Amino acid sequence: MIPTELVLSPQSYAKIVSELAEKLGSQGVSHLQLAHHFALTVSIQEEDTDLVIVKELTPNPCPVCQHRLTFLRETMERFTDNSANLIRCPMGHRYPGELKIYYLNVFQHKIEDEIEKPIKICPECGSKNIQYLGPKVMFCLDCDWDSGMEARYQVQRTIE
Ligand SMILES: [Zn+2]
Ligand SMILES: [Zn+2]
Repeated sequence: MIPTELVLSPQSYAKIVSELAEKLGSQGVSHLQLAHHFALTVSIQEEDTDLVIVKELTPNPCPVCQHRLTFLRETMERFTDNSANLIRCPMGHRYPGELKIYYLNVFQHKIEDEIEKPIKICPECGSKNIQYLGPKVMFCLDCDWDSGMEARYQVQRTIE
């Protein structure tokens, strides 16, 4: 699973911008700087909710060779671009799959750096690239390990 987009209410957006500006010691922060800070697309919506949009390709690993998918962002883009709904594994197998999109309401007005991080190293691959979405919600950016989010959140939309 990888986070791809942050959707913020105008209030949260303003709050995060001012917090980030203070932290960076600058007068203001542009939309682009904010997106870079989170390494996510950031958008604003009128409703009073803050969401992180997370995407997951399933099945993973490949049912033919059992290799885990790599370069998830690129693999997802390729999957979205072709209409056959086939996932291409690192070994070149193509198999039917699904792109699941999760809307996680977990941001809760916390800028990433304020969160205490109990897990710093991925238990599955040993990577230090753990992405936190909340105090107990996290995933690894280098493999598809996550803190068990599937059980807690439901899929709200699936791209056909
Ligand atoms: Zn394969
Ligand atoms: Zn990992």
